Amino acid sequence: MARLALDKVAKRYGRTEVISGIDLTIDDGAFCVFVGPSGCGKSTLLRMIAGLEEVSGGEVRIDGERVNEIGPADRGLAMVFQTYALYPHKTVAGNLGFALRHAGVAKDVIDAKVAEAAEVLGLTELLGRYPKQLSGGQRQRVAIGRAIVRDPRIFLFDEPLSNLDAALRVQMRVEILKLHQRLGTTMIYVTHDQVEAMTLADKIVVLNGGVIEQAGTPMELYHHPANLFVARFVGSPTMNVLPATVAATGGTGVEVETSDGTRLAMHEVETPSTGSPSFGIRPEHLHLVAPAGDEPGVFRGSAQVVERLGGETLVHLALACGTVLVAKTDGACAIRPGEAVAVRPSLDDAHLFDTDGRCLDKPQRHDLAVA
Ligand code: ADP
Repeated sequence: MARLALDKVAKRYGRTEVISGIDLTIDDGAFCVFVGPSGCGKSTLLRMIAGLEEVSGGEVRIDGERVNEIGPADRGLAMVFQTYALYPHKTVAGNLGFALRHAGVAKDVIDAKVAEAAEVLGLTELLGRYPKQLSGGQRQRVAIGRAIVRDPRIFLFDEPLSNLDAALRVQMRVEILKLHQRLGTTMIYVTHDQVEAMTLADKIVVLNGGVIEQAGTPMELYHHPANLFVARFVGSPTMNVLPATVAATGGTGVEVETSDGTRLAMHEVETPSTGSPSFGIRPEHLHLVAPAGDEPGVFRGSAQVVERLGGETLVHLALACGTVLVAKTDGACAIRPGEAVAVRPSLDDAHLFDTDGRCLDKPQRHDLAVA
């Protein structure tokens, strides 16, 4: 178990900087997920922590000790990759014990550790099989088992589930969560999949272009995104965003007018500086109301598409301005495509963003949504 600290960590390839001065601490026993679009630098950052990439600037510390100059084998970390890279001619037991045998560990110790890892991962029955006799999920479990037998201070996972089909990914996600609960070891996990990040992490680090957009718990990022990038990246279906203008200011908030002409009085938000702000609302915070009437603060339009998912229904609502909003309603919703629809945004859960994407919610506002 270990605590990790990154202090102004940077990575340059020639003159191109792909990681720019990252400051981050990951607590002992935490499950931290690096997430972001392809090319944002998450694998590079993980590989610098592992010692597989040289650090161009700043410091990596494990339990307070600078490890920049320490080789990967001596950092006490174990990494699980997307490709399992098992030895095809060794059995599951042979694969699990390989690193320990290589390190000259006594046979009875290896046997005990292999048996324990196999038990944790449900591989006991498969110890005598060869990789080609295993399913993709079982192979990935062996790859994780190889990391477990080494008793690492920190587990590093680089997109470990990307090669698996959707159903197996969900199953393995749960297995990795259980593994973390059981071992309590610090885990750092890289993925481009925000659902994986939300479900696994107790700390998510959203990366974009080599910098941290926001780091926090899944719920902090979901309910209090620091900016439009995080707001759109986290959550599925994504947050609805409408261009807006400031209609009035005063008191603790701002009245905005969205592109379709709807006026919305928002409390506990800063007044946007020049330019055009954006109004953001998640699909579950749009509530169906009767389409007839002229109630203010309601979006009106027609249902373009109705997606029935069983337990819930997603209504795609086309506004007169051309913007389409997605509202998440219950499974029994009877709306049909083409019907007039009206939705009321719950404004305590809505967000306002500046022209540069910065979220304008005041800290007090966090209490509004929780209340
Ligand atoms: P991610 O894991 O988020 O998809 P990476 O960490 O693999 O992103 O890459 C981050 C950026 O660094 C990308 O723009 C990539 O092209 C660049 N990069 C990665 N490895 C090298 C390399 N060896 N030489 C030059 N650029 C690289």
